[in-house]
Amino acid sequence: GATMAKSRFEYVRDFEADDTCLAHCWVVVRLDGRNFHRFAEKHHFAKPNDSRALQLMTKCAQTVMEELEDIVIAYGQSDEYSFVFKRKSNWFKRRASKFMTHVVSQFASSFVFYWRSYFEDQPLLYPPGFDGRVVVYPSNQTLKDYLSWRQADCHINNLYNTVFWALVQQSGLTPVQAQARLQGTLAADKNEILFSEFNINYNNEPMMYRKGTVLIWQKVDEVTTKEVKLPAETEGKKMVVTRTRTKPVPLHRDIIGDAFWKEHPEILD
Ligand code: ATP
Ligand code: ATP
Ligand code: MG
Ligand code: MG
Ligand code: MG
Ligand code: MG
Repeated sequence: GATMAKSRFEYVRDFEADDTCLAHCWVVVRLDGRNFHRFAEKHHFAKPNDSRALQLMTKCAQTVMEELEDIVIAYGQSDEYSFVFKRKSNWFKRRASKFMTHVVSQFASSFVFYWRSYFEDQPLLYPPGFDGRVVVYPSNQTLKDYLSWRQADCHINNLYNTVFWALVQQSGLTPVQAQARLQGTLAADKNEILFSEFNINYNNEPMMYRKGTVLIWQKVDEVTTKEVKLPAETEGKKMVVTRTRTKPVPLHRDIIGDAFWKEHPEILD
């Protein structure tokens, strides 16, 4: 504290590296589940997409946005989530290690805390971990390209996984055979296999799987029941109260094209 005298040991503080993020740049923290290939197997995730796991990830990301300061948008898919801090944030004097460790630890504790609400019949078998990294983007274009890159990754992996698991689950191929079958195929080939062999139109697969999840702050009407205090004749009665709150709302939509950014210009303000 400010009143405490400095000890002769105080000089060791100067060994701390300066990790201030460049002023006025977008700060992105991306986290990713550690060895979730194994974690998914041990906890019997549905393949190719376990919606409980995706919804739990999003619940954790919403908690991060509500508990921490200055996050304007988040994007998640598979076992990863990216959080974008507003350009002029001065939270913890823009120290990268503070941004990263607060995001990742809040997310990881939330993942354990909320596990049971999403996996009712599946106990959590061991404590999961997440890695984190910080990347700083100097312009709106590089930030949008970063988010596009993650959504393109979601699309490529999900198309592959959808065909791969159809071949395994519906055609009885072994994982090695399914992998061999898909070796060297293009997106169009994969769409064709899905359509001709499994009667699946990839474009009709759920948006959450194909596009991932975007979290942005939006006004939502919250309906609650409240005990009425006054006047006396209505005392003890319950009343329905609607109030408007700003919350991190999940959307499953394209963020690569311009439409999303034109509809939400406030995000990049
Ligand atoms: P910040 O988020 O900046 O770290 P903080 O409130 O955690 O804020 P610290 O300087 O880390 O501040 O101090 C931790 C505080 O937590 C202590 O001042 C004390 O009040 C409380 N605390 C931590 N551990 C214990 C403990 N074992 N017993 C009693 N109080 C504790
Ligand atoms: P690393 O520690 O290097 O991140 P990893 O095993 O977590 O290793 P990733 O590239 O992050 O590797 O891939 C995550 C894996 O977790 C996916 O390949 C998939 O097997 C599994 N996974 C994550 N989320 C889901 C989900 N919602 N449904 C099904 N499987 C999932
Ligand atoms: Mg990885
Ligand atoms: Mg991982
Ligand atoms: Mg991953
Ligand atoms: Mg503390």
